[in-house]
Amino acid sequence: MIHKLILPTPFAVGDVNAYLLKGDSLSLVDAGPKTPDAYAALERGIKEAGYSFKDVEQVFLTHHHPDHAGWIDAFPNAKVYGHAYNDLWLTRDPAFFAYHDEFYLERLIEEGVPQKYHAWVEKMKRPVAFMGNRPLDMTVEEGDALPGHPGWTVVETLGHAQSHVSFWHAESKEMIGGDHILEKISSNPLIEPPLDPSAGRPQAMIQYNESLRKVMTMPVEKIYSGHGNEVYNVHALIAHRLEKQHDRAMKVHAMLAETHLTIFEITQKLFPSVYEKELGLTLSETIGQVDYLLAEGLAIESRDQDGVFTYGQA
Ligand SMILES: [Zn+2]
Repeated sequence: MIHKLILPTPFAVGDVNAYLLKGDSLSLVDAGPKTPDAYAALERGIKEAGYSFKDVEQVFLTHHHPDHAGWIDAFPNAKVYGHAYNDLWLTRDPAFFAYHDEFYLERLIEEGVPQKYHAWVEKMKRPVAFMGNRPLDMTVEEGDALPGHPGWTVVETLGHAQSHVSFWHAESKEMIGGDHILEKISSNPLIEPPLDPSAGRPQAMIQYNESLRKVMTMPVEKIYSGHGNEVYNVHALIAHRLEKQHDRAMKVHAMLAETHLTIFEITQKLFPSVYEKELGLTLSETIGQVDYLLAEGLAIESRDQDGVFTYGQA
């Protein structure tokens, strides 16, 4: 049995979904943002399904973002499972947080972002207030079985987040997909510090496209997603998303015809009215398109003596 819980969030995305999964064990997939309103909605939804917080035995996280990982510490009898990356945030790992600021500052410099925007690095950690504050009991990875839920396995779907996993039931062809594939919106492959600092900046868009193609190879018929309605036309929607993303990248490609531009300059052209307000999201989107063009051999990268990257057509 899968019981959908719709929870309010204070974020632009609107409501978020959590799912109660009843098998041999009672589990919750995702736990809303840590707000009183989401807590009340969780309580109401779990009660409607015939249970209370203390009946929940496991919480599985699709990813660490604050609209999904909030109330993990509200279930006194539950073990919490997720990708290892969640823990860096859920435990407020001091070494990771120090590295986090360093990572984003390095990115801003190489992206050619003017100094007056550098204070933005601090903003990137603000959502942590809406995240639960307890470590995972168990980490999960590709192919793991979900305890207490025969037939359900973990599929790594990195891209939108460096912690992103989906849960897959091969027999029913159903997936609980977090924010990997949403009905109405295309998921933003956010630039996040890597789990292993020596690995360098994750190419989130490339990862994301690979994760989309992975789902393309699976006979998925229904996705219970993190926001909005269930998705049924999964393969057609993925094909559409990949095509649209290619089109957006080609728009960037056209900008590079006569000139070499930095990530910041491309971002200003792509999002003239929102880049200042949503610097993190818009830079991530631009980096994604440029990574895609580089991977396709359509763009070239050069670095000046100040460490700023510029891009031109290949
Ligand atoms: Zn989300």
